[in-house]
Amino acid sequence: MTYNRRHILSATLSSALAGLADLAAAGTSKPMRRMPSIFVGHGSPMNVLGNNAFTRTLQQWGKDIGRPTAILVVSAHWLTQNETKVAVQARPRTIHDFNGFPQALSDMQYPAPGAPEFARQAASLLAARGAKPSVDWGLDHGAWTVLHHMYPKADVPVFQVSIDYGQDGEYHLSVGKALSALRDQGVLILASGNVVHNLRHVDRNAADALMASRPWAQSFDSAVKAALLSNDAKALASYERLDEGARLGAQTPDHYWPLLYALGAARDGEAPRFVYEGFQLGTLSMRCVQWG
Ligand code: ZN
Repeated sequence: MTYNRRHILSATLSSALAGLADLAAAGTSKPMRRMPSIFVGHGSPMNVLGNNAFTRTLQQWGKDIGRPTAILVVSAHWLTQNETKVAVQARPRTIHDFNGFPQALSDMQYPAPGAPEFARQAASLLAARGAKPSVDWGLDHGAWTVLHHMYPKADVPVFQVSIDYGQDGEYHLSVGKALSALRDQGVLILASGNVVHNLRHVDRNAADALMASRPWAQSFDSAVKAALLSNDAKALASYERLDEGARLGAQTPDHYWPLLYALGAARDGEAPRFVYEGFQLGTLSMRCVQWG
């Protein structure tokens, strides 16, 4: 299609009208729609190039949730020690934090804008915990491989909050709870990890399946599901005691901790909904949960 002067004028006019509509909406006292708190099991970065039941669920999920004002991501791949950082860049870079994958993955970009104002607000909500604004991060693959499917236009502002790896489960829950207030301003809280994640014990040739290929993986995932359904945050925070399968399933808790951020940001009376359940590579739980 060749754009002539009339097209350009009409495009200018419609964007001006859209702007006026935004102004009118902002001028009314219509309350902002509260966005949900969600946990995404992200699995292998290869899912970003995939077309499978999990990736199709992400695509539909983004449509079902609708367009947030901004997205706050807590990813298993941004771990800090004895501090919590909040990324405040206006233009977060796409971080390719993996090795041994096809060049196509390293070539991918997710050029969403940052959300410096919400990021600074998040830092002040976490001020009591010593959270600091930071410019030394961008969007890691726990964020962009998921967002690529949920919000493919990369036009919703996104920022990340780090996980203080020196803290326990109760602490992670409390950070999620403190951040929950942002949901009322249309901010989607998206925590990205995997309930069961142990790369030394994946079955490379296993097909995507509803059940795990190993009993310990199935057992831990089921125990987490049951504790979520009974809203037992205390048991979920002490995941090591929740089930024997935790020993291998969350041998290092980096991919488990994000679940506690999403759970912490849930409000009283919001029941978890399992948007996706199943395993990739035999033992990677791709469980996805939504509250609100
Ligand atoms: Zn990961």
